[in-house]
Amino acid sequence: MQTFNLPLFLTIEKNSTKDLISKLDKEFNNIESKKIIIFTSQGVYNIFKKGIDKLLHEYEKNSIYFIDDSTYDIAVDVAKKISIEDFDIVIGFGGGKILDTAKYPSYVSKKKYVAIPTTLSNDGVASPIAVLKTYEGKAKSFGCKSPEGIIIDTSIIKKSPNTLLMAGIGDTVSNYTALFDWKLESKHKGVHPNDFAYLLSDTALNMLLFSREEHIRNENFIRQLAQSLVLSGLAMDIAGNSRPCSGSEHLFSHSLDEYYNINVPHGLKVALGSIASCIFQDRSYEPIVTFLKRYNVDINPERLGISKEVFIGAWLKSQATRPDRFSVLNTIELSKEYLEKVYNEIMEVLK
Ligand SMILES: [Zn+2]
Repeated sequence: MQTFNLPLFLTIEKNSTKDLISKLDKEFNNIESKKIIIFTSQGVYNIFKKGIDKLLHEYEKNSIYFIDDSTYDIAVDVAKKISIEDFDIVIGFGGGKILDTAKYPSYVSKKKYVAIPTTLSNDGVASPIAVLKTYEGKAKSFGCKSPEGIIIDTSIIKKSPNTLLMAGIGDTVSNYTALFDWKLESKHKGVHPNDFAYLLSDTALNMLLFSREEHIRNENFIRQLAQSLVLSGLAMDIAGNSRPCSGSEHLFSHSLDEYYNINVPHGLKVALGSIASCIFQDRSYEPIVTFLKRYNVDINPERLGISKEVFIGAWLKSQATRPDRFSVLNTIELSKEYLEKVYNEIMEVLK
């Protein structure tokens, strides 16, 4: 039977990082006896210096570690530090890269991990997966476990750049085509997708798709985005893999990452992939396009710097990025001519 570790606590609130010590004390009991290490970046530290210093100086044994890159080597080095120096609680405070570089070593060293995101650009906050750079800077997903605690301070998220919030929306939208591909794979393998993981991923998608909030920076919308991304992460935890939130549209994004140097947030690449995947899946992309336009999430490939050649090349190589995965790509014939038509259609729809 599949085992999973749901977080012990989740807070999505305005100013929820204000009194971090009493918050942690409430959740972990007797926080003064615990040794805490905070992983963050110099940039995040400069902004939240007062709060972090309070946590560091309240108890001398606590420590801070600045992450300057999300590589596997750094993650292993810090796992060593956590184990050798006997830290009890690991806190990741920052964007996705910092959180992943804190999540993996806390899993390896079997310590409690609390995630405090400063952006909501993808569904990695609550997921049991850490994406780290390996040889030649290539990103690889490593299985680990979801955080023990998640503290999402909406007043911090509100200050993050629009593009990153839009990327968060894009990563949620990808559940639309990922769930379809997951069903296809399950049918192909003669198994049944986990109903609860399916429900969580679908709910995460619908919560945003049918949101009544008009503005991306509206407090309620930020809360809904946070809830959606957390639900997506938990869906992956329950399923024991990323399939509830990662289908052919993610293969397209992996291909862009592996073969082309496109500096675009993950969530926007997968959202663009989802529009193409809808066409491959013979489904209407209208609900997704309408939704994205409503929040001004621009995924026009040319404006993202994805030329027709790159789009076609990335799709042609996408299946090879994860050959063990079954998706709609296994059921259709992708040719240059067909992909050119798909690109032109998308350019027209997203002009
Ligand atoms: Zn994703």
